[in-house]
Amino acid sequence: MNKPFAQYRRFFVLGMARSGIAASGLLAKDGRTVTVYDDDPLALGKFPATDIARQFGDRIAIASPEGVMEVMASSDCVVLSPGVPLENRVVQAALTRGIPVIGEIEAAYHFTRARIVGVTGTNGKSTTVGVIGDILKAAGIDTVVAGNIGTPVCDVLRERDPHTLVLELSSFQLDTTDEFKVDVAVLLNVTPDHLDRYHHSFDEYAASKARILRHASDATRYVYNREDAAANALADQTPARGIPFSSARVLDEGVYFDDEFIVRSWKGQRDQVLTRREFTPVGVHNLENALAAVAVATVLDVSLDAMRTALRAYRPLPHRMELVRVVGGVAYVNDSKATNVDATVKSLISIEGHSVLILGGRDKEGDFAMLLPHLRDVRRAVLIGEASPVIRRALAGHVEMADARDMADAVRIGRESAHPGDTVLLAPACASFDMFKNYQERGEVFRACVNRL
Ligand code: ADP
Repeated sequence: MNKPFAQYRRFFVLGMARSGIAASGLLAKDGRTVTVYDDDPLALGKFPATDIARQFGDRIAIASPEGVMEVMASSDCVVLSPGVPLENRVVQAALTRGIPVIGEIEAAYHFTRARIVGVTGTNGKSTTVGVIGDILKAAGIDTVVAGNIGTPVCDVLRERDPHTLVLELSSFQLDTTDEFKVDVAVLLNVTPDHLDRYHHSFDEYAASKARILRHASDATRYVYNREDAAANALADQTPARGIPFSSARVLDEGVYFDDEFIVRSWKGQRDQVLTRREFTPVGVHNLENALAAVAVATVLDVSLDAMRTALRAYRPLPHRMELVRVVGGVAYVNDSKATNVDATVKSLISIEGHSVLILGGRDKEGDFAMLLPHLRDVRRAVLIGEASPVIRRALAGHVEMADARDMADAVRIGRESAHPGDTVLLAPACASFDMFKNYQERGEVFRACVNRL
C-alpha cells in the first residue's frame, strides 16, 4: 500500500451486501469519511434503511451512478464487499489510478489486535471454524467466529475486539487482502471450484488460497491436510511451522485416525482425543474438519478436555448432510451446501447403501467426470437446472439419468426410484443461482418437498 491505512481519510465502499455495509459502519464509527455505492440500484436503495445508515448516516454519503467515478477518484482507498469481482469497471478504474483496493477483511485487520486463526479451503471451512470456535470457547478463551460464515469481521469489531478471532476466509476474500496476517493458518483442501471467476485456471484459484500464508513467519502456525497436494506443497514453501492432519496415514507429529480414535501426536506424546463416533457430523470429510480443529487447538495449547467437550457437543450446520426425514424406509438427506463436485464426491462416499442423487444447478466449470468412480451405488441421477446437459454428457453410460422440471419433480422422481433402505440425496455439485436465491433456499425447498411426501 502507498501509505499507512491509518492516514486514509476518504473511503469509497463498493458493494452494499453485508460485508460492504459492515465496513462502512466500522470506518464511519472511526471518524473516516465514507461514500458507498452498488451497481445494483436495488441493493443501493436498501442501504438507507440499514442499522448502519441509521446510526452513522450523517457520515456516509451515497454515490449516484453519474458521480461514482468522480467519488472513487477522490478517495484514498476503495473497499470491496467480497461479491464484487475485480473486473468491475470502478475497481479497474481505481487500480489504473493507483488507488489502493482492499476487501472488508483487510479493512477490519487494521482495527484489531486479536489473535487470528484463519481457515480456508474449498470445502469444510464453515464446519471447521465452528468446531474451532467451540473448542476455544470451551477452554474459556474469549473467541468470536466470523468472516465468510456469516458475521462480517467489521461488524464484530464495531462492538468490541475479542481475544481470538476465528475467521472463515473464501478465496475472494483472500484476493483482496494486503497486510492481513494470521497467527494460525488452516488450509483444508484445494479442489476445483469457482473456476469461472479465476480465468478457468486451477493454479490461479490455488494461488488465491495460498495467500493465507502471504506474510507467514516462523512464528506462524500452518495446519494443513497432508493428503491434499496443494496444501502439502505449501508446507515446504512457507516459513510457518507446519502441523499436518491426515485421514489416511499415521503421522509422527500431527493429528490422524488410529482405528476408531482421533489421535494427536505432539511434542513426542500421543493422545487419544476421542472416538470417531463421538463426533456427530457424517462422513470422513467431516472428520477431517475435526482433525484440523484438534490441530489448531493443539498449537494453541488448549486442553484435551476442552477439545473433547466441544467435539462431543458439536452438531452439524443445516444443509450439510442433514437428514430431513425417513419416508417409507427411504432417508432424504439435504446436502445443498455441496456446491462443487468434490463436495458431492464426499457426500456420495459417506452414504451407506444405494442412493438416488439429485444434482445440477449453475455450473462453475466443475469437472463432473470426478463423480464417475463414485456412482456404483447410485440407482439414478436426477438432473435439475442449467447444468443438466453438461452433466448428462459427463455421466452418460455410467448411471441412469432423469431430468426434473423443478425440485418438487426431482423429489417425486427420487421417491419413485428409491427402494427401502436407500437414500435420496440432494448434493448438487453446482451453484444454486439459476433456480434459487442461494443454497439455503435450495435446501429449504428440498426440505419442504420432502415434508409434503
Ligand atoms: P464451506 O464453508 O467451505 O463451504 P462447509 O462446512 O459448509 O464448507 O461444507 C460445504 C460442503 O462440503 C458440504 O456439502 C459438506 O458436506 C462438504 N464438506 C465438508 N467438509 C469437507 C471436507 N473436509 N472435504 C470435502 N468436502 C467437505
